[in-house]
Amino acid sequence: MLDAILVLNAGSSSLKFTLFSIHEDSNLVPELRGQIEGIGTAPQFKAKDEHGKVVGNEELSKTEHATQTACLNFFGKWLRGQLGDLQVKAVGHRVVHGGMDFAAPVMVSEDVLEKLDALVPLAPLHQPHNVGAIRAVARALPDMPQVACFDTSFHRSQPQLAQAFALPKSITSRGVRRYGFHGLSYEYIASAMPRYDANAAAGRVVVCHLGNGSSMCAVANGKSVASTMGFTAVDGLPMGTRCGSLDPGVVLYLMDEMNMDARAIENLVYKQSGLLGVSGVSSDMRTLEASTEPDAKLAIDLYMYRIGRELGSLVAALGGLDALVFTAGIGENSKSLRSRVVRDAAWLGVELDEAANEAKGPRISTAVSRVSAWVIPTNEELMIAQHTRRVVGI
Ligand code: ADP
Repeated sequence: MLDAILVLNAGSSSLKFTLFSIHEDSNLVPELRGQIEGIGTAPQFKAKDEHGKVVGNEELSKTEHATQTACLNFFGKWLRGQLGDLQVKAVGHRVVHGGMDFAAPVMVSEDVLEKLDALVPLAPLHQPHNVGAIRAVARALPDMPQVACFDTSFHRSQPQLAQAFALPKSITSRGVRRYGFHGLSYEYIASAMPRYDANAAAGRVVVCHLGNGSSMCAVANGKSVASTMGFTAVDGLPMGTRCGSLDPGVVLYLMDEMNMDARAIENLVYKQSGLLGVSGVSSDMRTLEASTEPDAKLAIDLYMYRIGRELGSLVAALGGLDALVFTAGIGENSKSLRSRVVRDAAWLGVELDEAANEAKGPRISTAVSRVSAWVIPTNEELMIAQHTRRVVGI
């Protein structure tokens, strides 16, 4: 028998999982990974083993698997049939918001769940699904230890000024402040960085997590000191469908002149903006890069421009730069985007190695470049599994 840890990432319409086995040499080895997508519309289950062999591929009935709980029950049953000599000892969850209470992963209890419920207004589109999955597992397996790992925790090391808004105390005292997100990804990169560039890892690094959700983080000696996402995950860079930073005056204009209420504005800034809104073509970078539409080019140009501007701002927060890291779907895969970002950042002392960039790095800066540049695949699931193991003590 081998102990195992199940990692769950429950979103609004998807449930992603990775099962890790724990080996004698203390290594966590991914055994199975997959997801149910289209929950609520056309649920589809897919899973692969550690060799990439498809071990599950099923269209689920829309009526029988209409809810997250029904999908989790299906998944639990399927998983039991796959475990062999693995025994799940704990479940680790990705939870978007830990507020000010949770600066580190935590063992789930009823008290913790109540605190996580209270944070729903700060992340209404994600938090209910994260917490819902924890409750569903608790109902099915009441004795299973569960650990909540937060996207915000890594940023609690930021100086107070970096977390502050210039608003009156009566507002900020309610928790209206910059939290930052994608923390599990940044924490993974910070933990991997010494293997790539030990000097930079002990110095000043800007990490660009560029995926459907995109943000950037300034990391000094392994700790977050500033990030582009703030109170919510809609701030900072433009994203697949999110607008990124917006003058609050625009929101007032939308309310006063276009009669939009909070829900309509939420839909606009989270779901209809960003690459999709600007291009009118797609939220997907691959589609935009392949498109000949002028507005597809405009969307990429704006994304690039904002990355460059935010880079300057984060370097100011760090007081200089030793390394630049690209990660997540776009950061790991779009050569042209990396090439343009690094070339535009020449003023910071980084020089692109074109051939290395074509080859996906990992180092994509020349040997003489004063600032190094890297492509490092993120691994949020491993980070969650490591935290879960430590918190549960297995
Ligand atoms: P999420 O935030 O949902 O985890 P991902 O990190 O998977 O998102 O990133 C998805 C984005 O990565 C999409 O915009 C997709 O087009 C982009 N992407 C994936 N592969 C490539 C590629 N080869 N070239 C350019 N963009 C890519």
